[in-house]
Formats: sequence, C-alpha cells, structure tokens
Amino acid sequence: MEDRMTTTNRILEGDLFDGETKWENQLRPQQFEDFPGQDEVKEKLRVFVKAAKNRQEPLDHTLLSGPPGLGKTTLARILAHDLGVECRVTSAPALDRKGDLAAVLTSLKPFSVLFIDEIHRLNHHVEEYLYSAMEDYSIDIVTGEGLGARPMVFKLAPFTLVGATTRAGLLSQPFRERFGIVERLQFYDRHALEVIVTRSAGILKIAIEPGGAEEIARRSRGTPRVANRLLKRVRDYAQVKGTGVIDRDIAVYALNQLGVDQNGLDLMDRRILRLIHEKYAGGPVGIETLAAALSEESDTLEEVYEPYLIQEGFLQKTQRGRMLTDFAKKQIEVASP
Ligand code: ADP
Repeated sequence: MEDRMTTTNRILEGDLFDGETKWENQLRPQQFEDFPGQDEVKEKLRVFVKAAKNRQEPLDHTLLSGPPGLGKTTLARILAHDLGVECRVTSAPALDRKGDLAAVLTSLKPFSVLFIDEIHRLNHHVEEYLYSAMEDYSIDIVTGEGLGARPMVFKLAPFTLVGATTRAGLLSQPFRERFGIVERLQFYDRHALEVIVTRSAGILKIAIEPGGAEEIARRSRGTPRVANRLLKRVRDYAQVKGTGVIDRDIAVYALNQLGVDQNGLDLMDRRILRLIHEKYAGGPVGIETLAAALSEESDTLEEVYEPYLIQEGFLQKTQRGRMLTDFAKKQIEVASP
C-alpha cells in the first residue's frame, strides 16, 4: 500500500524519477503546432511574438501561472523557438543571491528568453534586483573591494523574462506589474490529453489503441505531465500482463492497480477527501490542520492537489477553511457504503 502510494504521489507531484528529465525533454513539443490545448493562451502568445518580431523588439516579460505539469516550461521554450532566440532555464531556488542573478543576466545574448521557474520563491533582495533589469535592462554592480568598492550601472542586452509560478497570488504587486503579459494555464480537456498521449506514445514507440489513450487521458487530472507518466506505467502493465499493446482493458486494469480511480483521483486525493469527511464532518478545516494530519506540506496540498479537487467540484475553499461539496460527500458514500 505504501509503495503504491509513493508511486502515485510521484506521478503527480513532479519530483523527478531517474532519467526523467531526459524523457520529459524528449516529449516536450518544440513549436506551437505540436502543443495541443491552451488555445486562447497560445493564440495570444503567437500574436505577441509576431508583433515583437516585426518591431524587432524583445517580447514583453511574460508571467505564466498554473498548477505543475501544465506546460509552462514547454511554452517558454516554444516562445524562444518562435522568436528564434536562446532560452536560458533556471529556477528561483538557484538564484539565492544577487550575484547569482547578475551572473545569469550579464551572460544573456540579445533578445534571449530567461525562464525562471517557481518565480514566487525568489527572495525579495533578488526580486528587487530584477526590477531595473526588467524595466530598462540595467543592473547595479559593485566593482572593487573594501574602501575601493564602487557601484556602477551595467547595461544588459535586451531580454525577455518568462516567469512560471504555481502561486501567482504570492507575487508582490510591484513585481507582477512589471510583466507585460500575464497568462494563466488551465487544466486540459480530455480531447487535448488524448492527442498528447497518442503523440507521446508515437515518440516513445509504444503501441496504443484509441480506447487506451482515452482511458489514460480521462484519468490524468487534466495534466500532460501526469498523462505522460501514466502512459509509461501503463506500458509496463501492457508488456507484462497484456499483449504489449495498450488497449482500453489493460489501461483500466493498470490504472486501477496504480490507484487512479474513474474520476482521475489518486490515493492521496481520496485520503484528503476521506479525512475531511470522517474527522472534520465535511469541514470547514484549515489547510495547516489538514497538512499536519496528512503529514504533507501545506504548499504541496495547495499547489498540487487542491486545484484539481476544486475544479472537479469535490472541494470548496471558504474563508473558514476547506469544505467538501455535496457531490464529494455522495462519492465518498458510494465508495464506502
Ligand atoms: P510545467 O512547467 O508547467 O510544470 P512542463 O512544461 O515541464 O510543465 O510540462 C511537463 C511535461 O508535460 C513535459 O514533458 C511536456 O512535454 C508535457 N506537456 C506539457 N504541456 C504539453 C502539451 N500541451 N502538449 C504536449 N505535451 C505537453
């Protein structure tokens, strides 16, 4: 049981399996044409890229928000590809000191895209240091040491900052206002996920039937990263327990074994719902209390689990805490009569 729990959590939460970065990159679409879903965001970005190119200016700084695995990093790379420029990828925890950021900024080629993941985690010294870089492509740097130390303004090459965040609400107002383009990614519908699963199966040379792709898509929590990971796990079952081809039957069998139910909820989702139901009479209950009872980080609950439970109508966020919806209560009663 614990093992199964760990596997499904890893499928969801985004910690990387060995060698995972390699195959995630292998599956990453390189251009808008290969990126199904997020139609409105894609359409707008395409226009902004075209306009920036026509004006021979860098694209405006862009903030992409949404739950993990929806394609923020992929879109940043596609933007760079479409602009015909280099994409430098880093994340807030790697930019702990102003010097770290200065080193990255001063090495950017003109018009490059600088992608900063988890941008809400930047410490405020580094965040404020970014302001002048974003506004007029300049930063203050100190030359010399001790009494001879002197501040000077360093002119940077024009660049585009693309920030990704799972928690747009945690960004300070002044920081947020410095992004000219702010877009929120939505969970994917089943059709887009079917296209993604089928495309990934093609790249990984996995034989899959439409029924198998549909089943995986339906239970992927609206998230391409989850869909790709489930595809790989279902392939294992198809090879060991089936004919090697992913059809609907083997997909249903494998997904049940992995603890992913008809609604796409996994063991952790169901633990959250059952806990609120059984220990807190359906809520309201505070997020910190839930986190402690589940031995889980409250950030993980808020960033990874809650958004899908809310969107699918299982959970409500109220001023007094989290509450189950009537729909969730009915589902729990059906599951444990
Ligand atoms: P995020 O940065 O939002 O956490 P990523 O861009 O790293 O998400 O995407 C996670 C995985 O899902 C990658 O392997 C990527 O190829 C895949 N992916 C995301 N969005 C799409 C999409 N629209 N089409 C195909 N694959 C996608």
